[in-house]
Amino acid sequence: MSLPPPLAEAVGSFAALPRVLVATDFDGALAPLVLDPDDSRPVEGGMESLRAIADLPGTTVALVSGRALEPLRALSGATDPLLLVGSHGAEDSRHPDGLALDEEQRALLETLDGDLRAVVERHPGTRIEEKPAGRVLHTRGLDPQAGAAALESARALGERHPALVVTPGKEVVELAVAHVGKGTALVALADELGVDAVFYAGDDLTDEQGFAALADDPDRERAGRRLTVRVGDGETSAQFRVPDERALVEVFRAIEAARREQRPAE
Ligand SMILES: [Mg+2]
Repeated sequence: MSLPPPLAEAVGSFAALPRVLVATDFDGALAPLVLDPDDSRPVEGGMESLRAIADLPGTTVALVSGRALEPLRALSGATDPLLLVGSHGAEDSRHPDGLALDEEQRALLETLDGDLRAVVERHPGTRIEEKPAGRVLHTRGLDPQAGAAALESARALGERHPALVVTPGKEVVELAVAHVGKGTALVALADELGVDAVFYAGDDLTDEQGFAALADDPDRERAGRRLTVRVGDGETSAQFRVPDERALVEVFRAIEAARREQRPAE
């Protein structure tokens, strides 16, 4: 199967660069969507192709997913040197504890834990949900007045700690120590790796955030060399579109073949 000529040409230019990041969403891009998310598996040939790309010099491969890190690892079967970015960027397989947080953010998370425990003590019946980069205070089941008072206490923590990202919801307040999202994660990873360009493929709204962030990459040269692919239907800001997961594997194969051909000396 051959790619449409414009996509084939873009793959050729991308593959010729010294250092590249090849990243993809998992569900709906690499793995067909299924009724039970626990039954999700990569499409035939997908992981083999990504492993082959990851073995090439100057080439990093990453799976970027909204799933938590461990299920992503188990379902994909990914092993080193493939990188895993989970929970929309809050988790990263390169960190020993899986958390993609710097020291300041880790310290803030600890402080937040203490402050929230105090909120729960003052407002009996509230509960704390732990997320990789933050905490959520839940007030469901409380009478409305008690609930509102508890939520106000949690929101006030955002004033005490301005670095917290506060997201109020219905009977919840989420307090996060880091702005996460696939876009933020992709650009941060590209910076860290010092790559010349990023390939990213995905099928959903959160991936659109990735496509947009790569287009708005503060490194304007890198932005101009990006290669973004939407898998399946739906409005998109990606540069290219493929119909399904199998077609994405063809793109991976083309990247691998072009890179072997164009950068054989390394
Ligand atoms: Mg998806």
